[in-house]
Amino acid sequence: MDRIEVLSGERSTVLPMTTTAVESQTPPPVIGEPIVVEPVAATRPAPIALAGEARAEIGVIGGSGFYAFLDDVTELDIDTPYGKPSDPIVLGTAAGRRVAFLPRHGGDHRFPPHRIPFRANLWAMRMLGVGQVLGPCAVGSLRAELGPGTLVIPDQLVDRTVSRVQTYYDGPPAKVVHVSFADPFCPAGRAAATQVASQAGWSVAEDGTLVVVEGPRFSTRSESRWYSSQGWSIIGMTAHPEAILARELELCFTTLALVTDHDAGVEGGEVVSHAEVLRVFGENVTQLRTLLLDVIAAMPTERTCDCGRALDGLETGIELP
Ligand SMILES: [Zn+2]
Repeated sequence: MDRIEVLSGERSTVLPMTTTAVESQTPPPVIGEPIVVEPVAATRPAPIALAGEARAEIGVIGGSGFYAFLDDVTELDIDTPYGKPSDPIVLGTAAGRRVAFLPRHGGDHRFPPHRIPFRANLWAMRMLGVGQVLGPCAVGSLRAELGPGTLVIPDQLVDRTVSRVQTYYDGPPAKVVHVSFADPFCPAGRAAATQVASQAGWSVAEDGTLVVVEGPRFSTRSESRWYSSQGWSIIGMTAHPEAILARELELCFTTLALVTDHDAGVEGGEVVSHAEVLRVFGENVTQLRTLLLDVIAAMPTERTCDCGRALDGLETGIELP
């Protein structure tokens, strides 16, 4: 087992790095209850700075199997003040860029959407030095014209989740922090993804509103018709709180949403089944992987958007990694 020295201010820690599967983790705590941070002041570890090969500039939080495109792959078993991420993070090089990959549902898909350790996942990305996060996901379509296989790069988000912790600033020692979230996705990441996907021949919607529901069930026909009547475009289960947690850490976040079906109740939509979602996703996963590689290559090397200034002038009370 390779090991890497991780410096942490006055102390040093050693994180194990493995190139084999890491033993399964204990079941996650119930997301939505603040037990993961108690007692906050006493247990919060000092920020950890990872150096050298353990750093990355672009993060991908996506479905299992996407890291097949990475070269020089190593796995990093990492811990955060919010527990462990969904899985060990895979570090590697793609298109000359250092990339950190994390399967959001865990390598064996053990986390349903409402149990994903979202705060640990985004915090770990920042620990690794990531500035831009790409979040590929499967979504249902709420509009007849957005058929299966369409790639949507949403510019807006509506939160219909009910149980998820959606902030790092939830009490002492953290201050009360209100970040701007009017535009939840990174404009630079969206522009790069849209351009690359169009050039690659994808059917692309360069904007749209993504409504995020609690899940894990799919919507009723009435819910689906209601979402559609609001003018919203697509429906998913994970972009919230990923997008807001990224913003709270001053990370860029870009969702690449692959339409797998028309939602129930929408024109052209049949009853959604898990099997059908998996079938359509499976048909497109190779192209989506190729697209991700191209998007990674096209991501700006310097961040000129405002995402990295979300905390300007704000006192957070906690030190970010
Ligand atoms: Zn940005």
